[in-house]
Amino acid sequence: MNNRIFNFNAGPAVLPLEVLQEAQAELLNFQNTGMSIMEISHRSKPYEAVHNQAIADIKELMKLGDDYEVLFIQGGASMQFDMIPMNFLTAGKIGNYVVSGSFAKKALKEGKLFGATHIAASSEESNFTYIPKQEDIKLSDNAAYLHICYNNTIFGTEWKYVPETNGVPLIADMSSDMLSRPVDFSKFSMIYAGAQKNLGPSGVCLVVIRKSMIENLPENIAAMLRYDTYAKNNSLYNTPPAFGIYMLGKVVRWIKNNGGLEVMAKRNAEKAAIIYDAIDNSNGFYRGHAQKESRSFMNATFRLPTEELEKQFITEATEKGLGGLKGHRSVGGLRASIYNAMPKAGCQALADFMVEFQRKNS
Ligand code: PMP
Repeated sequence: MNNRIFNFNAGPAVLPLEVLQEAQAELLNFQNTGMSIMEISHRSKPYEAVHNQAIADIKELMKLGDDYEVLFIQGGASMQFDMIPMNFLTAGKIGNYVVSGSFAKKALKEGKLFGATHIAASSEESNFTYIPKQEDIKLSDNAAYLHICYNNTIFGTEWKYVPETNGVPLIADMSSDMLSRPVDFSKFSMIYAGAQKNLGPSGVCLVVIRKSMIENLPENIAAMLRYDTYAKNNSLYNTPPAFGIYMLGKVVRWIKNNGGLEVMAKRNAEKAAIIYDAIDNSNGFYRGHAQKESRSFMNATFRLPTEELEKQFITEATEKGLGGLKGHRSVGGLRASIYNAMPKAGCQALADFMVEFQRKNS
């Protein structure tokens, strides 16, 4: 028995119980070193094995070959909003962005600091209730890249297709849906994800990048902010966030051992359906923020008839061991984040609670 709740936090978020238990068992003495993984040199053999295994497992899950680099960078996904234009927005080029939510907008804002930008599509006029369609995306001439946010954590929308860019490098922030379903990752020139939702603890950002993207980077970028520094040094140029990478490696291994991305996708679709069905069968008591065709399998966002009822819902849910359901302040209402590690039983417990709450309060 443990005292864990069903944790619907948006991030940092629930991690697989088996992973936490494994880390706990190894904490004082990692592989007979007499030290924890946090106390070992990042240049030692035991650490390097952890680091390289994580990279190999990520590539295997993503079905990517040697034309891609797997990098571990600090600074969160937010630092990628800066590194992307610093490295790729060279003179005369234009950074293209699809603005589909808060983080997509932040990425654009940072891009503007480094060069010319263009909004290729936006759903801001609807308060980000949907993902723009292919025919709505208009790229500029001389596009350096198209940046998209694959899952909008705050608004609860998710891309269901990979946009066609006619050769313009496609870059995706997958912070909140990385490795939650199979995607043809080879269509992307770069994918990045802050680890603290689907991959592990905060402190490490996973960057997967096509080698050809980083062959001729501008000279005048600081060492720690250029992708080739990480690529040339196997992300060991300086001391990496070793504990985060160790945990990320365990989570990735857990995904592999549980059937890989196909199985994750099936489970995640079933989990999301449990919650969206509760919304759709409520006769309008619960109102989803996202339009149906753009609904995220990772973050389900919804409102109740009044803010008072929303507060009461959160209080009573918390008492029942359903935590972290408060929506982001820019949307309000409720948000259930149901990443890979959220068991189906958690979604069922939430849906049952929703039905019961409606019965008592309508
Ligand atoms: N992008 C997305 C989609 C996110 O959900 C978040 C964090 N919630 C970020 C970027 C920012 O990530 P970080 O806090 O790691 O900088």
